[in-house]
Amino acid sequence: MIAGAVSDAIEVVNPSTGEVIGHAAEASSHVVDHAVRAASRAGRDWATTAVAERAEYLTKWGEKLAAEADALVDLTVDELGLPPAVARNTQVNRAIDSLKHLPEMAETILGQQREVGNSLVVREPAGVVAAITAWNFPLNMLVSKLASAVIMGNTVVVKPSEIKPLAAWRAVELLAELEFPRGVVNVVGGRGPTVGAALVDQTAVDVISFTGSRDVGKAIVAVSSRTLTRCVLELGGKNAAVILPSADLDEALPAVIASCFFNNGQVCGAQTRLVVERSRLAEVEERIASIVGAVVTGPARASGITLGPVVSAAQHRRVSEFIAYGEQSGLRVVAGGSGRPAGVPDAGFFVRPTVFSEVPPDHRLANEEIFGPVLVIQVCDGVEEMIELANATRYGLTASVWAGDVDEAIRVARRIQAGQVVVNGGPFNLHAPIGGFKESGIGREHGLEGLAELSEVKSIHRPLTQNTK
Ligand code: NAD
Repeated sequence: MIAGAVSDAIEVVNPSTGEVIGHAAEASSHVVDHAVRAASRAGRDWATTAVAERAEYLTKWGEKLAAEADALVDLTVDELGLPPAVARNTQVNRAIDSLKHLPEMAETILGQQREVGNSLVVREPAGVVAAITAWNFPLNMLVSKLASAVIMGNTVVVKPSEIKPLAAWRAVELLAELEFPRGVVNVVGGRGPTVGAALVDQTAVDVISFTGSRDVGKAIVAVSSRTLTRCVLELGGKNAAVILPSADLDEALPAVIASCFFNNGQVCGAQTRLVVERSRLAEVEERIASIVGAVVTGPARASGITLGPVVSAAQHRRVSEFIAYGEQSGLRVVAGGSGRPAGVPDAGFFVRPTVFSEVPPDHRLANEEIFGPVLVIQVCDGVEEMIELANATRYGLTASVWAGDVDEAIRVARRIQAGQVVVNGGPFNLHAPIGGFKESGIGREHGLEGLAELSEVKSIHRPLTQNTK
């Protein structure tokens, strides 16, 4: 395994305090070449191992991660600014859980042999997977991309996010103790435009598995067109929560706010547009203002807080600019607004959780991913218009539908252009496929469909009669 650190160039900042708490490794392009060559060389042997043998490594990794859970939670609290309970449940435990079921799903996909006339159709490992992760779930993206690639018999080169790398690199150190065969897993640290760009531009890479922003996803597709490398892209979203006329607002509204502010408002699948009928607007606004008014913003380690800071100075600038733009363009503020929340320390990257109402479909705030605790309310007349409004975006990652009964919600969910739709508050399922319609991505991750992306299909045509040579 190549850790790939040639310098400690990138500062990692605690968003609750503004203090530098570590550094991220920056590899050279030479190290990237070396890692991809090593992965390529190791591929032939690794592809012939049994799923059960590969699974043993991952089981041991899961045990090591579980044994270090407290330390990983601490790193996550400090680098991401999440309250400890949130860091444990949604970051660290989810990383460990993502290892479960992988062996049985890999057996299912790789065991999918089919007879078609004289042909045998089989699935095989794809080869070398280049995996690149985003900063908002840095530990579990590293664990799940790496584990999914190797359980399918691929070798892998991972570039973790350079913005929030501390827990991810600790997981890599634990992985190094497992002594995978040389070249099977490789991790290279560094910035996107240098190390990430060098990694996706390698001829020997067979699949690029990328999670990040839409713009970088498009840049990667442009580079990959040179070698026609398959890309699996998990990108952004501008996701609608559709509150049908029959929905129970007591259930729906707190859940929509929880989704919008989850991970301090920095989730690709967050519900950031609330779509409601005009006749219920006043009631919805009043209730939303009261729910958001009860949110307590502060440093991750302060007691009683329900919302931490956004992740960096750059993200703070970006979210603040969106809020200011919303105000300047005349949008009605239902909660929050510009400025700092009361009582937070000066040095942290805090914004006021903010809700704008009656945001027109062509407004920037109804179309652009903000990646902060900002909700827009959009009004319409009738269910058909609600569905149209939910779909009126270039993105198509997630949505939620709220109705008086689940069947009604599912009927509407089937008409929403999104890769995942939550109905009446159904919980996230880590083992079902995730991915986007439209500009939210290409392909799927997780579940059987996600693992299938990391394999190739081969048709073997037998002679028509047994004695034909
Ligand atoms: P980003 O696109 O800035 O960076 C993502 C990763 O790509 C980082 O590791 C970065 O170093 C690397 N990168 C940057 N430029 C590159 C280049 N030219 N070539 C190769 N790699 C490059 O995204 P981010 O700011 O880390 O994360 C936030 C974004 O990720 C949001 O848009 C969010 O919606 C999206 N996201 C999507 C999902 C999903 O499952 N769909 C999940 C989480 C985050």
